[in-house]
Amino acid sequence: MRQYTITAVPKRVNKTGYDVVIVGAGLAGLYAAIHLDESLSCAVITKESILSCNSSLAQGGIAAAVDLSDSPEKHLEDTLKAGAGVSDERLARLMVEKGPEEISILEDLGVVFDMDVSGQKYITREGGHRNKRVLHCGGDSTGSHIIEVISARVRARQNVHILEDHFLVDIISNRGENKACGIVTFSKGEYTFMASNNVIIASGGIGGIYRNTTNQKGITADGIAAAMRAGAECRDMEFVQFHPTAFYDVPEGTAPFLISEAVRGEGGILRNPRGEAFMKDRHPMQDLAPRDVVAREIFREMKEHSSQYIYLDISSKSRSFLSERFPFIFKSCLERGIDISRDLITVAPVQHYFMGGIATDEFGRSNIQGLYACGEAACTGVHGANRLASNSLLECLVFSRQSSMHINSTGKNPIPEAGISFSDLPVYEGAVISLEREIQENMQEHCGIIRNEEGLQKALGSVSAVMKKLDGHSLEPPVQTRIQNMAIVAGGIINAALKRKSNAGAHYREDL
Ligand SMILES: Cc1cc2nc3c(=O)[nH]c(=O)nc-3n(C[C@H](O)[C@H](O)[C@H](O)COP(=O)(O)OP(=O)(O)OC[C@H]3O[C@@H](n4cnc5c(N)ncnc54)[C@H](O)[C@@H]3O)c2cc1C
Repeated sequence: MRQYTITAVPKRVNKTGYDVVIVGAGLAGLYAAIHLDESLSCAVITKESILSCNSSLAQGGIAAAVDLSDSPEKHLEDTLKAGAGVSDERLARLMVEKGPEEISILEDLGVVFDMDVSGQKYITREGGHRNKRVLHCGGDSTGSHIIEVISARVRARQNVHILEDHFLVDIISNRGENKACGIVTFSKGEYTFMASNNVIIASGGIGGIYRNTTNQKGITADGIAAAMRAGAECRDMEFVQFHPTAFYDVPEGTAPFLISEAVRGEGGILRNPRGEAFMKDRHPMQDLAPRDVVAREIFREMKEHSSQYIYLDISSKSRSFLSERFPFIFKSCLERGIDISRDLITVAPVQHYFMGGIATDEFGRSNIQGLYACGEAACTGVHGANRLASNSLLECLVFSRQSSMHINSTGKNPIPEAGISFSDLPVYEGAVISLEREIQENMQEHCGIIRNEEGLQKALGSVSAVMKKLDGHSLEPPVQTRIQNMAIVAGGIINAALKRKSNAGAHYREDL
């Protein structure tokens, strides 16, 4: 795999410099920016607008042990149990212990959590949690509320520039010294080299490499792929989480939005096409079993009944409760002719979250000096083989703040002088959209909820062929670069899935 995807003569590349460059304006990127020392200049880049991130889609909320009946120790136990024996216990402990503190910081920044009638924080339960510990905002609009508040705070900072419609092309590193020295971006037809000693990759997950995903369209594994090209180590790549219940639009045959796990937390029951509550005897936690278990059982029911979907039944709750507790879900289903207080909701599992990513330590540091990662792009190991519901926003908060604290402690250093030069390769002129579909179909069919060696080998052959076609060419951002990124990360996931010979959490091979 070559280090850079573009070929350009240096005079076409603008040059600028910052103390810190952050790729991604979701919760991880913005929260990192707000915790940087104000003496440090910082650019936060995002490939689209600030709201085009997964963070703004988060419905259920943030898990933190803030209830008197709860404790970080109990939160840790549930996190490790969901992680299926492959979690990093030390970092998971750090995360849950810092949970209550992050909630207070968010409140100080202006985030307003939902309250119950007695004026206490309204804390709910989700799959895999034994205690009520999920805080939310605006019912099921947690992410958009938080992003609105934090982005306004970041915009008010003099030291931070938010640059929308700036696509990360490559991470520039000095391989000899194993050191990051900036990034190249592409915006409005121009390349810019942003020199920096500190690059934070907060570019989110990988949803776009699957045909069906809950993720925003622009989440296509770009930051992880660029880090891999720069020599960053990745880990846990085989662990891809499927959310059990995305709304399945029957006439369209698509899964356009998520039905939060919190609906099952409030009493929702999964039913097969015969109306049977099938989770009753499949797991002690029944409908609130960990996500990997529920997704697999739904998948089996769909296969057995030759159906594209099953049903979620929350008709035990009143119309007024549901419209207030889940305003987004209630309204979105109603627009599609389903009154969730009366009708069954059609649901199917879809790709949702990536437990793997750029391997990082407790300060978000990768194996390359000056290259940090946080949020879904990073793999701290806290989720192990299966993320516990509502732990990912918490992970974003804890480890992005840790990264900024570490950068603050290293102080202000001269911005690197390094120049960049690219070798002159021919521009790729073949069709690319069909290559993108090929990756998505292969990942969906062969690297999904239930895998086997034969399917994984088939997917690897196909993805490697895409890589080969693009390699040896100069790729034009954003489309060609994006597809190369998807192929690189898809290849990493398939290889890891082939390598792991035992089932754990979200990695399930029927041939083992
Ligand atoms: C529908 C949905 C509901 C969810 N609900 C919850 C929940 O209730 N609780 C919970 O804990 N988690 C939830 N999650 C997961 C959680 O939202 C994400 O894991 C988390 O928000 C990731 O945050 P992030 O900052 O790492 O990435 P994101 O929020 O995805 O942000 C990524 C950023 O990187 C930018 N970017 C990407 N590629 C490039 C590039 N090439 N160049 C420049 N910029 C780039 C994007 O534009 C974006 O700004 C949910 C996820 C989804 C999809």
